[in-house]
Amino acid sequence: MVSFRIVALGDIPTLTKLTSWKSKVFRIDGDIQHFQISADSDLEDWMYSDKLISRLAPSRGPEDILLVLTNVPLESNWYVRRIGDNRAVMTFHEMREILNDSNIPLSNLVLRVLYAYTLVFKRQGNQLQTTNEFSYAHDATKGCLFDMTGWKGDIKYSCHRPIICTSCSQRLREEKISEETIHGVSTEIGGIRKDLYFRMSDWVREQPVLAIAISSLAAILLGALGSLVASWIWSIWYPCPPAS
Ligand SMILES: [Zn+2]
Repeated sequence: MVSFRIVALGDIPTLTKLTSWKSKVFRIDGDIQHFQISADSDLEDWMYSDKLISRLAPSRGPEDILLVLTNVPLESNWYVRRIGDNRAVMTFHEMREILNDSNIPLSNLVLRVLYAYTLVFKRQGNQLQTTNEFSYAHDATKGCLFDMTGWKGDIKYSCHRPIICTSCSQRLREEKISEETIHGVSTEIGGIRKDLYFRMSDWVREQPVLAIAISSLAAILLGALGSLVASWIWSIWYPCPPAS
């Protein structure tokens, strides 16, 4: 099981679901610890370089991977980067608006990164090479854990019921990742999804005729049920017909 510690660098949004998430392939050690950003950006457009983030973030402890969450733009305007010493940084910059527009909880993005890096850590021989050293993503958007999401808006496809696509599964097998791990991750990431209300509203949008038919049937059944209940109440209040 791969162990993570999560820290916040600067202000980050409130994350639900994260601490209560159960996984058999990774664990999160302790609560999120907060650190302040003590330097201005060192790149154009207020971006922070890997080098600077690496200096501002705390050192890794006994955990396998330290995940740093922040709100500032990262190098090349990526949303997640590996910065050395088994540390990675993920930003909510621009991602928060994209996910909010799609009614996807922000913690889904963090979970997606945790699962992806669990596999990347294992396939690299229990280490996390930097973003500049190793690429694991494919450019095509498939709703897969390993989508590059060159256009950030595509992140919504892999933050609601993400998958491990066929080619990535094959690549993981070639890199000696066990069937149990691949199957375990595939099963668990099926639970990364929108909240119930938004899943229902998505379904209504996709199946409008069926939704109208079901709601009409429900209205008829409720009407019939109401009539039966009224008859029953009437029979209790007036059990015998009045004598003539
Ligand atoms: Zn893939």
